[in-house]
This record gives sequence, structure tokens and C-alpha cells, in this order.
Amino acid sequence: MDIVVLVKQVPNTTDVKLDKNTGNLIREGLESIMNPDDRNALEFALQIKAEYGGTITMVSMGPPQAVDVLSEAMGMGADKGLLLSDMAFAGADTWATSYTLGKAIEKIERFDLIICGRQAIDGDTAQIGPQVADFLDIPQITYVTDIETVSNKEVIVKRRLEDGHERVASQLPALLTILGGANNPRYPNIGGLLAACEENAPLAAWNAADIGVMVNDVGLAGSLTHVIKTYVPKFKRQGETLEGTTAEVVRQLIQHLGKSEGASACKAVAATCRLMADTKQEGI
Ligand SMILES: Cc1cc2nc3c(=O)[nH]c(=O)nc-3n(C[C@H](O)[C@H](O)[C@H](O)COP(=O)(O)OP(=O)(O)OC[C@H]3O[C@@H](n4cnc5c(N)ncnc54)[C@H](O)[C@@H]3O)c2cc1C
Repeated sequence: MDIVVLVKQVPNTTDVKLDKNTGNLIREGLESIMNPDDRNALEFALQIKAEYGGTITMVSMGPPQAVDVLSEAMGMGADKGLLLSDMAFAGADTWATSYTLGKAIEKIERFDLIICGRQAIDGDTAQIGPQVADFLDIPQITYVTDIETVSNKEVIVKRRLEDGHERVASQLPALLTILGGANNPRYPNIGGLLAACEENAPLAAWNAADIGVMVNDVGLAGSLTHVIKTYVPKFKRQGETLEGTTAEVVRQLIQHLGKSEGASACKAVAATCRLMADTKQEGI
């Protein structure tokens, strides 16, 4: 069973600050860690490898220091690490990130399963897994909480729904996105960490040319979305108590609803209330 695990290096905080001018995340001065959901993804990959054999290749797109998460993953038991790093990849939106990861996985060729976290704690979009699966034209199962069985041809998993779980089977190759907390990721062992730091460690770095992409198709240049403005929405809750008889309160409410900007739903409610108030007067 050959497994590719996608892993992202993220700042060790969920309180992400944004650069007001560029709209990009401010990462300077923050400790970097392996994205938490990715630890769960790797843990499942390690369990599958223990039962069925095979190899685990970690893939990360990021700056040179993202090699740290690959080393950590190898300390946990992954076999190989592949860092996709190139100035041309900088500023990538989720589409350009998925395209770059997809092109690298295409070059790896042999894989039965791709496992990634559901969501990164900095970008927070949860788009990468589904987009990579779409790019590679393979089935995807999201929100996975348990991997029940894997055979040469099929994987059966449990995935979370809003109000329960469902069991889903997919042919292989397939991509799974794993929910945080789905398992208890193991700690890296010292021997594995030391081996990952040795010169002959199976760590490779690929740039744009290595994966055969044009620089205009990746990074900021290849991004389909561009940040126009970033801001923290302000929620103003100004409660107001309407006084008077029921009919007076309803009339005041109608006036308020009628004033709300362009809200056709509000106007419909206002019209209904008006009708009720006119017909029932005090009785609403
Ligand atoms: C216009 C624009 C510019 C941006 N510029 C930058 C920038 O300069 N630098 C920057 O770091 N980010 C930048 N971003 C954010 C970047 O696009 C996202 O962080 C990235 O695409 C991943 O999305 P996400 O964090 O929401 O991941 P999610 O979709 O939430 O992640 C889900 C899973 O996908 C996998 N995954 C996600 N990202 C990677 C990765 N890089 N490598 C391997 N696996 C991964 C992990 O398994 C993760 O758990 C930019 C975004 C936009 C819109």
C-alpha cells in the first residue's frame, strides 16, 4: 500500500493576524508546527502501513523551513519526505496550491491512497484535499473519522455528518481528508528524528522545473483568487425593547422592518405583520 500524506507547516496559533496592506497572513515571529489534522492523517497512514506494509511519502509545499515538518513526520515513522519549494510557489491561493501538489503527486506516480488533514489552522479553507482529488481525477471522502478496512482495491471509512456518521466505500486510488481528533497521533521517536537529519535521509526538494510547471501557473501568478481587502467583521448588536400594547409593538416592529435596506424577506414579514395587526388589532 503506497500512501502519500499531505502535510502543511502552520503557525502555532489559531489567532491568525493579517497584513493590512497585502492581505497575507503574518507568520513572522510565530513558532511553526505540523498542522494538527495532518498528524491524524499521518497516524492513520502509519496504522495502515503497520497492517498492510508499503511506503509513506510525505509531501509539503512551503518555504525551506517546512522541511522540519517532514523530518518530524519521518521521526513518527514516515519513509520519505518531499518538499515542494520555489520562490515561484509563493503567494499561492488554494487553487495554485492544489495544482502544485497535484503535479508533484502525478510525478510520484505510485500511490494507492492520498491522506490529508481536513483543514489547516491558518488558511482554514478545507479546500486543498477536495481540489487535489479533483485535479488527479480520483474519488475523495471527506470528514473521515475512522478507516475501517483497506484492501488492494477498496477502502472503507467512517465519515462524520452533521447529525451522525456514515460508512463509505471507495475504490482505490482515493483521497481521504481526516478530521482532527480522529485518532491519537504518536510522538516522533528520537532515532527516527536523528535519521531524518542525516545527510542521506530520504528527503528531496523539488522546484517548479522538477514538477514540470510553468511559473505563471503557480504561486501568486497562477492564483485564480486575489485578496482585495481583509478585515475583521464588526458585529453590532444594539438591542431595543419595544414598549406598548401588542398592536403598538407590532406597528413599531413593522416600521423597523420596513426601514431595513433592500431586505425583501423583511418586507414580506412586515406586510404579513401589517395584515395581522390590521385584522386582529390587539389579538396578535
Ligand atoms: C491570494 C492568496 C495569496 C496567498 N498567499 C500565501 C502565501 O504567500 N504563503 C502562504 O503560505 N499562504 C498563502 N495563501 C494561503 C494559501 O493559499 C493556503 O494556505 C493554502 O492554499 C492552503 O489552504 P488552507 O490553508 O486553507 O488549507 P486547507 O485546505 O484547510 O488544508 C487541508 C489540508 O490540505 C493539506 N495542505 C494544505 N496546504 C498544504 C501545503 N502547502 N502543503 C501540503 N499539504 C497542504 C494539509 O493536509 C491540510 O490539512 C494565500 C491565499 C490567497 C487566497
